[in-house]
Amino acid sequence: MDSIALEKTVTAANYDSLPIVLKEAKGVWATDIQGRRYLDMMSAYSAVSLGHGHPRILKAMAEQASRLAVTSRAYHTELLGPFLERLVEITGLDMALPMNTGAEAVETAIKAARRWGYQTKRIAKDCAEIIVAENNFHGRTTTIVGFSSDESYREGFGPFAGGFKLVPFGDAAAVETAITGNTCAVMIEPIQGEAGIVVPPEGYLRELRAICDRHNVLLILDEVQSGLGRTGRWFAHQHEDIRPDGLILGKALGGGVYPVSAFVGTRELMNVFDPGSHGSTFGGNALAARIGLEALAVIEEEHLVERSAEMGWYLLDRLRAMRSNIVKDVRGRGLWVGVEVDANVVSARSVCDALLEGGVLSKDTHGTVLRFAPPLTITREEIDWGMERIERVFARAIH
Ligand SMILES: *Cc1c(COP(=O)(O)O)cnc(C)c1O
Repeated sequence: MDSIALEKTVTAANYDSLPIVLKEAKGVWATDIQGRRYLDMMSAYSAVSLGHGHPRILKAMAEQASRLAVTSRAYHTELLGPFLERLVEITGLDMALPMNTGAEAVETAIKAARRWGYQTKRIAKDCAEIIVAENNFHGRTTTIVGFSSDESYREGFGPFAGGFKLVPFGDAAAVETAITGNTCAVMIEPIQGEAGIVVPPEGYLRELRAICDRHNVLLILDEVQSGLGRTGRWFAHQHEDIRPDGLILGKALGGGVYPVSAFVGTRELMNVFDPGSHGSTFGGNALAARIGLEALAVIEEEHLVERSAEMGWYLLDRLRAMRSNIVKDVRGRGLWVGVEVDANVVSARSVCDALLEGGVLSKDTHGTVLRFAPPLTITREEIDWGMERIERVFARAIH
């Protein structure tokens, strides 16, 4: 049985994967079992922002794996402190709590925000509310999908936890209207990724910061996908010069090889946790800490944030200059671009299949948007190589 058929036999059909079987990948290039090469312009939803198999990450990983890997937080290591120290330096926050996946870090943020609300705002027991945005994506746990506005994420998975209020994304006034005495936090993606790389109006985050300050409400940003250089700044919120109270990170933090996530926050917020109130067996283990620390060093020393800004403008310009009658919108920041196609003419998935055929890995989201988010290490020549193929596919669609 071939790999795809075998997967389909033994795996739940919770993904509609593209028909390609990958065998190897290095940097921005991936190779399938037939030996065909592809330019990876998806980078595993930004988890591979450093490129596949980064030599420094692989070296650190191998060294650490053979010395000390999984310890559980029942004990201390020499690695967790330095990793989180660097993380708080880069984010400008005070403390961090390590987890593994993005969803776990989101759950950590929810717990922190609620407990902060009960302890400092004296919100009545079990009444804390968190304001979230329509079309949000924060992961797949039952609590998180419970406040999704996408029915396919929720259908058949209830009952869901209460305590969340949905408001339109990009509308700061709607957030202020939704705030009550029970509101402990506003939790938002600074740019909505899964919704189709939706960039909010200029000033949105600054307004949210002011509103949250006015009402003594926490501003928590989910930068699992937008963080760590993806948008051309270390964090997307830096485009508006604000500081959140809590910041959720993941994906690229694992250097493309391991799940590493964290909830980073102010001392006041992080102080709500005491022994027994939260945990995760693998969270913050020695291997994770070593890889996370090395990933941060690579982003900094290889100037990947600056590269993302520079190459991002180049990619955005080239995608905007494309001649095609199926493109409705091209938007994004840094090396994170969404191309919205006209759903009346073509599905994003069929464009995605054609790109795959042409040697470019991308992924559609919500049926109408193609995402281009290559590793931040991509060169201008590699973008040119990809753009030649992308232009061909979009030009063909004209007829
Ligand atoms: C991917 C993502 C998550 C969930 O991360 P997992 O590692 O898949 O649990 C949460 N928030 C945002 C914004 C994401 O893009």
